[in-house]
Amino acid sequence: MHKNFKGIEKTVYGRGSFSQLGDILAPKRTENNQYFVFIVDQYFKGKELETRIPAEAKDLVYFIDVDVHEPTTEQIDTLRDEILAKQGLPSGVVGIGGGSVMDIAKALSLMLTNEGSSTLYQGLNLVKVPGVYHVGVPTISGTGAEVSMTAVLTGPVKKLGLKCEWTVFNQVVLDPELIATVPTDWWFYTGMDTYIHCIESENGHFNNAYSHAYAEQAMKLCRDIYLGENAGQTPENDDKLMVASLMGGLSLTYSEVGVCHALSYGLSKILGTRHCYANCLIMNHLEDYYPEGVAEFKQMVKRFNVTLPQGLAKEWDDETITKMAHVSYNLPHMWLHAIGENWQEVITIDVLKDLFKRL
Ligand code: NAD
Ligand code: ZN
Repeated sequence: MHKNFKGIEKTVYGRGSFSQLGDILAPKRTENNQYFVFIVDQYFKGKELETRIPAEAKDLVYFIDVDVHEPTTEQIDTLRDEILAKQGLPSGVVGIGGGSVMDIAKALSLMLTNEGSSTLYQGLNLVKVPGVYHVGVPTISGTGAEVSMTAVLTGPVKKLGLKCEWTVFNQVVLDPELIATVPTDWWFYTGMDTYIHCIESENGHFNNAYSHAYAEQAMKLCRDIYLGENAGQTPENDDKLMVASLMGGLSLTYSEVGVCHALSYGLSKILGTRHCYANCLIMNHLEDYYPEGVAEFKQMVKRFNVTLPQGLAKEWDDETITKMAHVSYNLPHMWLHAIGENWQEVITIDVLKDLFKRL
């Protein structure tokens, strides 16, 4: 069976395009109870962007601190209940921020129309009815959350996405001006998520001409941004990074991620390490699997004097490492892609534990 995915319905790209958001929302304002909910990264509270949010009198604007914890099922349920109790069903939801805020906006859109707790819908195609209209406005680029069909939530039992066609944004606004203020360390880790998406998408059994074309272009952009003559956090490179993130995301959608992401989920789940940073910590030690990709990754690390701590595993007991290995092992689609049909002969809990011990 070949994957048959729904994409973003509308995309506006370009410097200053955020100014068009009001006009984009206007025709949708007649729907439901005729108001919008804006979910905005707390970083923008008091910044110039706050004054440019096209919120009207009836709209609700929530500023969310994403550094306290990654999006949770409880957070979404509470927000949904509060919004419905206050003003009923909104015309739509707009998420202005990084992967965390965009995931909150996607999940909220679905949970406004689907009954019960969001924990019921963590998984593939469990959502019963479409959510409300939702718009993604990325302010940090790399995870591909702007284009993906999942909204990752941490629940009491699992960290898993609400994954279905209706999760995909109806509209995205890609304005490279919005990512100018990203701190350099986040700019590096999050951008590397895109690079790693491409390396993993390319090096595996599900790679095909369609996913390859996106990965090739996204990698070219990453090389300009992180290794080129004019490497660094410049407006020109921000223009490119925003596109690279989208294309890296499309590449993995039509292929799959691999060893780095499988291990990264183990690390994030057990120790709470953030996605993009966890990927960087792990990619540093995967030369056996992706020799060329890791060599180039290390050049980028060197170019930007990024310090990736070593010897982390010395602090972890066997139980912790075993737990991480089990989380990683339970991602068969990634192993099938990265290793092949016989992956269980190659990848065992002990092999995974040894990989974690390299960190
Ligand atoms: P993030 O949203 O967690 O933000 C990272 C940091 O950057 C935060 O401190 C935030 O306040 C800050 N920030 C964002 N924009 C800024 C700006 N313009 N200027 C200054 N600071 C800014 O970052 P992320 O890495 O994009 O997202 C990580 C989250 O995405 C995780 O929760 C992960 O689970 C999720 N994720 C989702 C998908 C998906 O497909 N849905 C894929 C990968 C990761
Ligand atoms: Zn990723």
